[in-house]
Amino acid sequence: MTEVERLDYDVVVIGAGGAGLRAVIEARQRGLSVAVVCKSLFGKAHTVMAEGGCAASMGNANSNDNWQVHFRDTMRGGKFLNNWRMAELHAKEAPDRVWELETYGALFDRTADGRISQRNFGGHTYPRLAHVGDRTGLELIRTMQQKIVSLQQEDKRKYGDYEAKVKVFAECTITELLKDGGRIAGAFGYWRESGRFILFQAPAVVLATGGIGKSFKVTSNSWEYTGDGHALAMRAGATLINMEFVQFHPTGMVWPPSVKGILVTEGVRGDGGVLKNSDGKRFMFSYVPDVFKGQYADSEEEADRWYTDQENNRRTPDLLPRDEVARAINAEVKAGRGSPHGGVFLDIASRLTPEEIRKRLPSMYHQFKELADVDITAEPMEVGPTCHYVMGGIEVDPDTASSSVPGLFAAGECSGGMHGSNRLGGNSLSDLLVFGRRAGLGAASYVESLAERPKVAQSDVDAAARTALVPFDPPRQGVEENPYTLQNELQQTMNDLVGIIRKAEEIERALAKLDEIKERIGNVLVEGHRQFNPGWHLALDLRNMLLVSECVARAALLRTESRGGHTRDDYPQMDSHWRNKLLVCETTTDDPLAPGVRVTPKDQEPLRQDLLELFELDELAKYYTDEELAAHPGRQA
Ligand code: FAD
Repeated sequence: MTEVERLDYDVVVIGAGGAGLRAVIEARQRGLSVAVVCKSLFGKAHTVMAEGGCAASMGNANSNDNWQVHFRDTMRGGKFLNNWRMAELHAKEAPDRVWELETYGALFDRTADGRISQRNFGGHTYPRLAHVGDRTGLELIRTMQQKIVSLQQEDKRKYGDYEAKVKVFAECTITELLKDGGRIAGAFGYWRESGRFILFQAPAVVLATGGIGKSFKVTSNSWEYTGDGHALAMRAGATLINMEFVQFHPTGMVWPPSVKGILVTEGVRGDGGVLKNSDGKRFMFSYVPDVFKGQYADSEEEADRWYTDQENNRRTPDLLPRDEVARAINAEVKAGRGSPHGGVFLDIASRLTPEEIRKRLPSMYHQFKELADVDITAEPMEVGPTCHYVMGGIEVDPDTASSSVPGLFAAGECSGGMHGSNRLGGNSLSDLLVFGRRAGLGAASYVESLAERPKVAQSDVDAAARTALVPFDPPRQGVEENPYTLQNELQQTMNDLVGIIRKAEEIERALAKLDEIKERIGNVLVEGHRQFNPGWHLALDLRNMLLVSECVARAALLRTESRGGHTRDDYPQMDSHWRNKLLVCETTTDDPLAPGVRVTPKDQEPLRQDLLELFELDELAKYYTDEELAAHPGRQA
């Protein structure tokens, strides 16, 4: 029998970013015992890296803002493919979640009259992002960790043990979810330092593992983003949706090569920075797509006036949604009007004083100074698209965050639906707070409703341990593979063939390459033993990367249109017949290393009538089919 440390909890939260921590707080406040597991150090998650801010229609910077405007912006950004109920809950609840953070001890930047200050971001009608300089995510995590410590202090007083109700398991990776008769029964993993196995026996698991960016060569994401939650859920029988939609942030660093892909926050453009090509032209005015015509300024003068007078001017096209800006940069570079290192220029130096730049964008100032030897107060930055965020994820019930597997919940970037085909900047941090809380509540209610707890079968534990140990002793001798080589081939394939611009022939080549990697993954061999062994860790992450990459590629091949974070060179237009179609991914075999993937289209539930009526008929007609709009009052009048 495999040697395994065994622990019992009511809820296991996998992931200690914003979504995970918010779920922990909620489940603990309902009195449940909660384990929070993270494969990196506690406090090191993507949420910490979030710079620009957290979108919430508090109306502090412009009193015309409200949840309906935020809802409309989110749906437009997602090209009306969003799960509208999620977008509705998000827009309605985000302001309360931001306020609540201040009750935990957060301190956002202030307006002159002492309210939470809000900044402009792409696709948001009004300044809406609550922020702390360009280190907003750090404040979110710091505050939620502080809240958890205060809950642990309460538990110490009540039970004599700080960890009686909430315990953190850092540098601990979950590799498998275990079930009992179709219901979640626990989670299996290993300590990264010792390599020893650990089993959490629990009736409810909340996945909050973030995204999949490490499947692409050029990315703003760090090493943990290997799609673990997506893959864990799929292997446990849950479905993924929207996997073809991958956000390429328009502004990543392009030089030097060692830092290629690192994010340059949209806050630079929100605070006045403009994009220019090698001719010095502000090219974004030439790239306003038809669906946004009339909503954006058509001259530099109007765009510049908008920063100080938003009532009487339209916003700058530099702040179009990310998919539009990324495609525009791609087109400029392709047309030979790029910067020396294959990007374009982002100029804040000629727009703000050096003091203002250092005050408003301190991280960006240091990032460029230290990594590229560029002084952004004196010269423009060179920027280009970088893989940043996945809109696709685990299909969940909007209100409870439950997946199709009883006891399995998901929130944050690893869940799907909320952002449709393209996420607006700032809408992730608010998503984490709104749906992290709902996942914690959903898991708590589920656990409380159980008459009997599921049990973990020893045979499942043994099987999970066997799968984890395969890379030390692969079945076929003489054909061993290096995990780093396979990872590199996978990343390059996804980058080159399923990247920002796609076409059928290239996606098919990518799928053929992924099939080849599937054949080879069983031969991955790692040297050494289980104590801190990065090669082994990567070998285990690889099967997740492979599974989610196949989902992205298969769904991208099926969707024969261009929408949001999915651009097909061979189908360049948005097609209204695809608008309400979700592509649902599920596994077809139980192969623990490389299960097959099936992608099936299904219709999305129609937008509720009162929400539909928040939009003008003319606007909806750009996205919807005639039949879908038959019930709109504007059509019936
Ligand atoms: P994360 O914060 O990434 O947390 C994931 C957690 O899961 C980590 O603790 C990780 O260790 C753990 N984990 C993963 N796999 C396993 C496993 N197998 N076992 C155990 N633990 C596991 N969004 C905004 O709204 N505004 C912004 O200004 C903004 N700026 C950004 C800047 C950068 C550079 C980046 C990369 C993203 C930015 N985003 C922004 C996006 C946003 O930060 C992320 O989408 C969001 O933080 C994801 O949060 P999460 O809680 O879902 O996951």
